[in-house]
Amino acid sequence: MTAGNKMNHRNNTLVWDSTAEVVKILDKPSKKIAFLIHINPDGDALGSALALSRLLANKGHDCLVISPNDFPDFLRWMPGAPEICLLSESFNRAEEFMKEAELIFVVDCNELKRIIRLQEDYNASSAYKVLIDHHPGPDLAVDCMLSDTSVSSTAELIYRFMMETGLQQYADKEVATCILTGIMTDTGCFSHNSSSRKTYETVASLLDYGIDKDEIYNRIYNNYSEKRMHLLGFSLHEKMEVLEGYHTAIISLTKDELNRFNFQVGDTEGFVNYPLSIKGICFSVLFVENSNKIRVSLRSKGSFAVNEIARKYFNGGGHANASGGDSFENMEETISRFKAIIPDYEKELSDYEN
Ligand code: 5GP
Ligand code: MN
Repeated sequence: MTAGNKMNHRNNTLVWDSTAEVVKILDKPSKKIAFLIHINPDGDALGSALALSRLLANKGHDCLVISPNDFPDFLRWMPGAPEICLLSESFNRAEEFMKEAELIFVVDCNELKRIIRLQEDYNASSAYKVLIDHHPGPDLAVDCMLSDTSVSSTAELIYRFMMETGLQQYADKEVATCILTGIMTDTGCFSHNSSSRKTYETVASLLDYGIDKDEIYNRIYNNYSEKRMHLLGFSLHEKMEVLEGYHTAIISLTKDELNRFNFQVGDTEGFVNYPLSIKGICFSVLFVENSNKIRVSLRSKGSFAVNEIARKYFNGGGHANASGGDSFENMEETISRFKAIIPDYEKELSDYEN
């Protein structure tokens, strides 16, 4: 059934293959369909996979969303979230399902290495494979690539896919809630990546499904623990360092520091954005110590692209203004290395006026 696992590595900003074959498969009765998302899934990854899986389940298919690991508490309320299969807990179940799946959607993920532990199963599967994503440089073998880096979020592409394939007849309030969550979280509540009219037209259409935008906002952004708030205060007051002359600020958090504040998955989500609200700062980096590595999150305002730094120095990648990666040195070495790199970007950073 597969078109032969062609290797795709296209840096185009828009690759939108024909969806005719997908529609043909979906029109047959009850198919097993797997939805794969990246490690440490965010609101867009979860929203996109949950929206699409619910649409197709409503059509009568057998759907399973598979996540490499657990997701933050503040997204646990999302419709369908309790049914997500976590590889960290139910690897065998995921593998069994992957063996039988006739269709696989990879959403909000541009590299196989980010679907951790299912790479071999993915490559071995003869299922028809579809990528729906908005990250630059999609690099995995698929039969149908739906990639557009100009959009706010993958969730916006799920909406586009739904309209193009006639699946909107299966949409409901829950599907619309998941799509809005993806758009809202990937745009920082419409503060970035959201200058296109299309984004607002999509949101307007979602409102027609009877969703409560304010309630969704509250569930995402007003849902933190007291400890997380204290950790944020500590991070900004004690751990933020402005790198004079480089329009840059960094925050680092060690395991011990996280433990002091009873760290839970997702607690540091959004911390990296705060330094960007300082006048004159256009580049912000957050270093968080995990069990065996330092997670690096990079954000910028304006034309300074951070994905090159993520790729070149931290085995990562992402968007021009929002990227991530990992460092396998300790915190001190990682920060020293970062500070040694930054003068190379002095010219580009100095272009920032604010
Ligand atoms: P975060 O800082 O939230 O972990 O990541 C920000 C963005 O960077 C993500 O939405 C994703 O687009 C991208 N990203 C994070 N980590 C990686 C990585 O290891 N590889 C690639 N290609 N992109 C990443
Ligand atoms: Mn996304």
